Amino acid sequence: MSLMSPPAVSPSATPFASPFYAPSANIVDLRESATIAVSTRAKALRAAGHPVIDLGAGEPDFPTPGFIVEAAHQALESPSAGATRYTQVEGILPLRQAIAERADTIRRAAGLRGGIEPSDVVVTAGTKQALFNACFALFAAGDEVLVPTPGWTSYYEMIALARAVPIAVRGARECSLKVTPADLRAAATPRTRGLILNSPCNPSGAVYSSAELAAIVECATEHEWWILSDEIYRAISYAGEAASLLSVVDGDSHAAQRLVVVDGVAKSFAMTGWRIGWSIAPSAVSRAMTALQSHTTSNAATLSQHAALAALTNPAAADAAVAAMVREFQRRRDAALELLHAARLDVIEPQGAFYLFVRVGEATADDPEPGTRFARRLLDESGVAIVPGIAFHTPEWIRVSYAAPADDVMEGVRRIVAQRIS
Ligand code: PLP
Repeated sequence: MSLMSPPAVSPSATPFASPFYAPSANIVDLRESATIAVSTRAKALRAAGHPVIDLGAGEPDFPTPGFIVEAAHQALESPSAGATRYTQVEGILPLRQAIAERADTIRRAAGLRGGIEPSDVVVTAGTKQALFNACFALFAAGDEVLVPTPGWTSYYEMIALARAVPIAVRGARECSLKVTPADLRAAATPRTRGLILNSPCNPSGAVYSSAELAAIVECATEHEWWILSDEIYRAISYAGEAASLLSVVDGDSHAAQRLVVVDGVAKSFAMTGWRIGWSIAPSAVSRAMTALQSHTTSNAATLSQHAALAALTNPAAADAAVAAMVREFQRRRDAALELLHAARLDVIEPQGAFYLFVRVGEATADDPEPGTRFARRLLDESGVAIVPGIAFHTPEWIRVSYAAPADDVMEGVRRIVAQRIS
């Protein structure tokens, strides 16, 4: 770990300016999502007839489970469901009830007091919107927000859109790049207002234990920081269920008043296109986020809310579908890891999510982004799309998704190994 104080993430010149358009001050530093950009380029190359293996996308390659699709059909055909109409901005009550009950169950299973109400829940157009609502409602100009790094690309941009400052906090390699309270304390200033946690982590696949989460909660509580916990990959975990912040923060505690948990159906139920996520927050924060959402998108798509309701209220079918997907992800992970280990590549062994994070060089003044150089060459010369680590503020690494057909994963990883040792 570097002993230097961590840098605020610094933007470079805007890519959107034209002779007829000067981007507003709101978005002058904005960048397109690097992960989406890779996928778009891979799709464009494919459309132009190039045989590209796409290991860039963070999207399960499975269809949405049949019982969920069927529930959506039924909602559409039943006029009383109102599936073609607006709903309350914060989402239909049965869905918020189901989300609150699930969250309460997690708390109580850990022996804690629950108390999560439907009024604490806001249903959103994807987890992305829940994160954006929270960043906008909690942070503002001059605030600093700690982002354990590598961190998902949109955290840095969302914090900046709220005019706050994302502070990248690097975790040590020996901790699988996870951060500790000491790392957070070293990065904090009197302007620090909060941090964003993501376990299982995109891009590293690292999972924080309950004890590690509890230590971070203690540190955050001591400093009165907000914790925004992105748990979208929690169901995709290989060594038992990944811990939720809900299972370490008692409902009646001070920490619960400064905790926002976000989650969604996209990854665990292969429902990326349905666009349903949610936040669970103290009710005052939920009211503020609902007001914000009432002026941006209003309710998440009604039909999709009915589909998400089916996903959350049919535990037997849901558990079976999720378990089958997780088994397949694990099979791919194990096979790919075998190749990477045999080639002696430095890879974080993912305990959750569906990404392999591989170190491909040393960032130096002459070669500041070895991961970007590696990714570019891999696409141009070997036809494999991956995401360069710079997207996660770690330029020495690359992210390889195994949410792709198993044969593609293996062939893509073989080509990565070949390029690495050439
Ligand atoms: N959070 C993380 C860590 C992600 O990787 C993603 C999607 O890639 C999201 C949130 C956004 O999820 P959704 O599709 O529900 O908006």
